[in-house]
Amino acid sequence: MKITLVETIPLQIPLRRPFKTAKAEQQNASVVLVKLHTDAGIIGIGECDPRPHITGETVDSVLAAVSGYLTPAVRGMELSAVDDIEKICAQMDRVLVSNPSAKAGIDIAAYDALGIRKGVPVHSLLGQRRRETLQSCGFSDLGTREEAEQDAQRCKKLGCKNFKIKVARNWTKDLDRLRAVRSILGPEVGLIVDPNQAWSVERSIKVLKEAKSQLSVCEQPIPWDDLLGLATIAQEVDAPIIADEAVRSPSDAKVLLRLKAANMVNIKHLKSGGLCRASEIAEILHKGGVECMIGSTMETGVSSAASVHFGLACPNLKYFDVAPPTDFLIEDIADGLQWSGLEVKTNDRPGLGLRLREEILSKYAIS
Ligand SMILES: [Mg+2]
Repeated sequence: MKITLVETIPLQIPLRRPFKTAKAEQQNASVVLVKLHTDAGIIGIGECDPRPHITGETVDSVLAAVSGYLTPAVRGMELSAVDDIEKICAQMDRVLVSNPSAKAGIDIAAYDALGIRKGVPVHSLLGQRRRETLQSCGFSDLGTREEAEQDAQRCKKLGCKNFKIKVARNWTKDLDRLRAVRSILGPEVGLIVDPNQAWSVERSIKVLKEAKSQLSVCEQPIPWDDLLGLATIAQEVDAPIIADEAVRSPSDAKVLLRLKAANMVNIKHLKSGGLCRASEIAEILHKGGVECMIGSTMETGVSSAASVHFGLACPNLKYFDVAPPTDFLIEDIADGLQWSGLEVKTNDRPGLGLRLREEILSKYAIS
């Protein structure tokens, strides 16, 4: 089977409510759906989730990268075995540095197409299946205390074991929200705070010591390009540190291990350039004794399905931070994942096991 064409469909899907972090406020999920066509008539589905504040990509830059560089590079390439996907990723890296979410759309679609061709689900292409289901973390963005309380109450009812909350607008108010959420969730639930790079090294050390009894883990407190600073924080505070924006590639993971810059890593296919590199990062960390979170963004069920398959096979998974897409989007474009509250499993159909809802797709397609 050979790749013949990479089709892109930009989508803008409104969110149920604005999504707020220390870095951005989003009203819509802006994504690019990828349909990877092959000479066997099989079409794989993937998704690019460009985030200017995470990878420096936009919808326009993804469309230009795919049509101008990545499609010419992969057209005609063989796609008959798992090793072929490694070759496709290497070829994309040869013609264009960075641009990870553009590459992720093609990588995910290649796994989907190969799974359909072989009659197996994507998780079996990523290695051994290690679990039957995944439970997502509960979640609250950078909203008011009342909104955080409502989110915590809803997740508590769903049996959430870990809860992630965005912080870093105002520390007094953040601490107030943390205490309110902690009192609802109780001491057993893990509480992950994510300042999205908003603090300095000194501030991180100060506030993490102050909030010690309220939180369990802190994700990416300082800017992505300061791994030495992250290492300083990790050595100074008791709370485990998760690196998110700081780790995009397998070599970032190796540097992180060498520096002991964090206790865990949040892996997202939009940062790593897809599932092939995401699996490589997980493997490097696993050998180094570091666990991971699998994270997400405002995305459709296509990206979520890719993360679920990755999560089922990931050897060192600690936290799964991928919510049901319609918790955020007003409508989803794909059916296939089986969500029950915060629990999710796949349907074991070949590939990602998805069916696109073409009528929804055409509703949110932008030209
Ligand atoms: Mg994060």
